[in-house]
Amino acid sequence: MRLMLLGAPGVGKGSQAVLLAKALSVPHISTGDIFRCHIVNNTELGKEAQKYMDKGMLVPDELTVSIVASRLKQDDCQDGFILDGFPRTINQAVFLDKVLDELKMQLDMIINIVLDDRSIINRLSGRRICAKCGAVYHIEDKAPANEGICDLCKGELIQREDDNEETIVRRLKVYHEMTKPLIDNYKGRVKMVDVESNKSFEVTTQKVFSAVGLKSAKVEA
Ligand code: ADP
Ligand code: ZN
Repeated sequence: MRLMLLGAPGVGKGSQAVLLAKALSVPHISTGDIFRCHIVNNTELGKEAQKYMDKGMLVPDELTVSIVASRLKQDDCQDGFILDGFPRTINQAVFLDKVLDELKMQLDMIINIVLDDRSIINRLSGRRICAKCGAVYHIEDKAPANEGICDLCKGELIQREDDNEETIVRRLKVYHEMTKPLIDNYKGRVKMVDVESNKSFEVTTQKVFSAVGLKSAKVEA
C-alpha cells in the first residue's frame, strides 16, 4: 500500500507511521528522520538542514526532493511505502507527482491527521525523546517511571532542539501557510481520510488502522 500522512507537526504522524509501517511491512519514509540522521552523522547535508530545522523553518526544496526521489527508487519501496513529512509544500507535491509518474506508481490513500493548535503546542513542548533508542515520552501524558530516563533502554531523555515554544509556534505558522494547502491540492484526486487525534494515542492508532482496512492495531512492541 502506498500511503501519505498529512498533518501539522505534533499531531503524532511519526509515531503512527512507525506502527503502520510495521503492520503493513512497508518502509517508513520520514524526511525529518532522514535529516536528523544526517545531522547525527555530521554530513554536509546535515549541517545545511540543521540551520533551518533548529529555527523551525523548512529545509529548501532543492535539498529535500532528491532525497525522496532516490529513496522511492530503492527496491524496498516497490511494494509500498508510507510518506511522513513529505511533501510539505505545493512545489514538493508537484515534484512527487512527477517521480511517481516516472515509477508508474499511484498513491492509494492519504491520511490527514487533525489536531487543534493549542493541543499541538502542549504536546510538543512536553515531548521528550530518548537519545539512545528514540522512544517518545511526554512529561505529563506519558511520563517515564524515572524522570529523564528511558523506560526501555535507560537512555537519557532529551528535548528536541526544535521543540521549544518559540520554534513550535514558527513550525505551526509554516504548516498553515505552506503545508495545509496540500489538502486541497490532493482532494478529489487521491482518497483522503481525516483522522482526529484529540483522544489517546491508542485511539488514534485504531482509527488510522481502520482507515487502511487493518482490523487491530495490536503490534508487538
Ligand atoms: P515535525 O512534523 O514534528 O515538524 P519532522 O521530523 O517531520 O517533525 O520535521 C522536522 C523538521 O525537518 C521540519 O521542521 C523541517 O525543518 C525539516 N523537514 C522535514 N521534512 C521536510 C520537508 N519535506 N521539507 C522541508 N523541510 C522538512
Ligand atoms: Zn531508550
